[in-house]
Amino acid sequence: MRIHQLNCGTMAGISPTRVLLVEAPGGLVLVDSGIGLQDIADPAGRLGPLRHLVRPALDPAETAVHRIGALGLDPRDVRHIVLTHFDVDHIGGLADFPDATVHVTTQGLTRAVRLPRFVERRRYRRAQLEHGPNYAEYEFGSDRWEGLRMLSLDHVAEGMMFVDLPGHTMGHAGVFVPGGAGAGHDDDDETPVGKDILHAGDAFYHRGQIDPSVRTPAVIPLQERAFALEPGAIAMTHSGLAALARRRADSLDVVCAHDPSGPGGL
Ligand SMILES: [Zn+2]
Repeated sequence: MRIHQLNCGTMAGISPTRVLLVEAPGGLVLVDSGIGLQDIADPAGRLGPLRHLVRPALDPAETAVHRIGALGLDPRDVRHIVLTHFDVDHIGGLADFPDATVHVTTQGLTRAVRLPRFVERRRYRRAQLEHGPNYAEYEFGSDRWEGLRMLSLDHVAEGMMFVDLPGHTMGHAGVFVPGGAGAGHDDDDETPVGKDILHAGDAFYHRGQIDPSVRTPAVIPLQERAFALEPGAIAMTHSGLAALARRRADSLDVVCAHDPSGPGGL
């Protein structure tokens, strides 16, 4: 499958908000949705006080709906959106695709929408969900992939899956998307043979946190802890991702939402 890495909301002038656009046989699939047009129209109401901290660019050209159009594709073909978590910079674009099914973990949906605790009521923005997304929800069981808990999303796009990456928020998950090679589901020879991608959401903030050959700026782990709702899980998630990225270096790109390096960065 052809996978595009799109920046859908530059943060503080330095970090992208990485969204994947997957050209799947059954239509277009987004992984996360970035900042949306309605956020730009009403930043105070939709993004709340957090916008002063993360300072999103608020540029319509950086929304998923515009980026898809700029690629010559039709945003109305987006059938599915798979969410890593419910933070404002990941769900703002949902309202621009009101007919898409939004795939989420049950724990993520419960903590953001059904039964948010005090910290979660302050963190998540109900206004971004007022259009009433059509959710499909999933709970992790005992199935594993590369040692990590996984949930198949074959019905969204063959080979796609949620991968349990706890730490940042309750129910936070990565999303694996198979590339062209060896995935056994796409014999269209116009589709370029590509690596698989694991979008790790906010499971890490900087490449150096999962790659010992890259130096991580000292401020990054502090920022990460400040935003984490399950900080005790961060170290294990990092080590799992580091081992995976090392083991599958030839065939898999592990990316996160806000790392400025790599494709889709700035
Ligand atoms: Zn984020």
